[in-house]
Amino acid sequence: METVTYSIPMRTRFRGITTREGMLLRGDAGWAEFSPFWDYDAAESRPWLDAALDSAERPWPAPVRDRIPVNCTVPAVDAERAYAIASGDHGCRTAKVKVAEPGQTLADDVARVEAVRDALGPDARIRVDANGAWDVDEAAVAIGALDRAANGLEYVEQPSAAVEDLAAVRKRVDVPIAADESIRRAADPMRVKRLDAADVAVLKVQPLGGVRACLRIAEEIGLPVVVSSALETSIGIAAGVALAAALPELPYACGLATTRLLTRDTVDDPLAPRDGALPVVRPDPRTDLADVRADDETAARWDERLTRVRTAADGP
Ligand SMILES: [Mg+2]
Repeated sequence: METVTYSIPMRTRFRGITTREGMLLRGDAGWAEFSPFWDYDAAESRPWLDAALDSAERPWPAPVRDRIPVNCTVPAVDAERAYAIASGDHGCRTAKVKVAEPGQTLADDVARVEAVRDALGPDARIRVDANGAWDVDEAAVAIGALDRAANGLEYVEQPSAAVEDLAAVRKRVDVPIAADESIRRAADPMRVKRLDAADVAVLKVQPLGGVRACLRIAEEIGLPVVVSSALETSIGIAAGVALAAALPELPYACGLATTRLLTRDTVDDPLAPRDGALPVVRPDPRTDLADVRADDETAARWDERLTRVRTAADGP
């Protein structure tokens, strides 16, 4: 199988990383992306490989819509920078604001959310993502403050880490709860449903094993779905777009407008939002990938990793 390893600097530190790395794989159906973060071991990277192989080898399910509304993403930056990001030329009417960043305070989060509301106006939707940082009491306090700062939050994503805590937070606040890590890093994603822990399910193609696997989870979990990226280049984002395009219902903007967090991309025409939406397309990589190609040492690490994950996947 033809592969290319890429290494691209991030515009802003995000999820603790400053450079995004991964592989592009070509199969009979087209190009796919394999880019588990380095803190994922071989076993946890297995669904990422399943997703890439599925995308590379089988055509995606038929789309039922041709454009995917997306949110802009505001990292844990200061209020001035947050205002600039939210009022960018992407046309997004929904913003996702990162909160509860280590080393920052609730006041920082409040200022960031207020700046985003100022930038987008009263009819835009604002959601926040705490990446599981709060305990139940902290979550209740923070969500109340952020809901006031936003003049109404659309939802709060993963306020606490444990599914039981999500369920407890959900009973304490009026803001809807979205589950992200509780689905994609959980041994059993359906616990979210059994414990009544969320109002919205965030699904990501790579960590959940592919477009078709996500469609099955969406059906089984019975919650509205927001498709989000794993900070892929446009080759991986296109698989998220394919999932969003194939879902029977799509009531929320998706978290797929993340290619601008990267300084470069693997395609000629990056999947970036125009008028707040992405087109449903399957792009090929650029012919000349010299400016994103990883150095030999990095490429060798990824070749070795691909073999290790594939071997784990073929194991007992
Ligand atoms: Mg999240």
